[in-house]
Amino acid sequence: MAGLKGPPYMEAIMSRLATPIRKNDNVLVITGKDRGKRGRVLRVVPGDNRLVVEGVNMIKRHTKPNPGKNIQGGIVEREASIHASNVQLVCPECGTQTRVGRKILGDGRKVRICRKCEGVVDK
Ligand SMILES: [Zn+2]
Repeated sequence: MAGLKGPPYMEAIMSRLATPIRKNDNVLVITGKDRGKRGRVLRVVPGDNRLVVEGVNMIKRHTKPNPGKNIQGGIVEREASIHASNVQLVCPECGTQTRVGRKILGDGRKVRICRKCEGVVDK
C-alpha cells in the first residue's frame, strides 16, 4: 500500500479523532436505548469511530434462504454498530467507567491507562 499514506498532519488529525477503544474491551453504553448495558467490543469499524458491542443495539435482519451458502433465512438478530462516543471504557482494574489516558512505559511501550485509578488498560 505504498503511496497511500496521508501527509503527517492528516495522521495527527486522525489519531486525535480516533476512539481509544479497541476490540475485546469492555464498555458501558452511556447514551441511547441501550444505556447502562455493558458488553465486549466485537469489532471496531476502522476510520468511522463506530463499534459493534456484544448484545448492544440489536437489530432484526430479514434474510433470504440461500441453500448454496447454507443460510436458512428468516429473522436474524445481530448487533448493529454504535458510535464510539456513546460508550465509555470499563476499566479492567477498578471496574468503573472511565476516560482513557495514555502513558509511555519505561520500556517505551505506549499503553492506555484508566484516568480514575491510573491502572494500565493494555496488558
Ligand atoms: Zn481504573
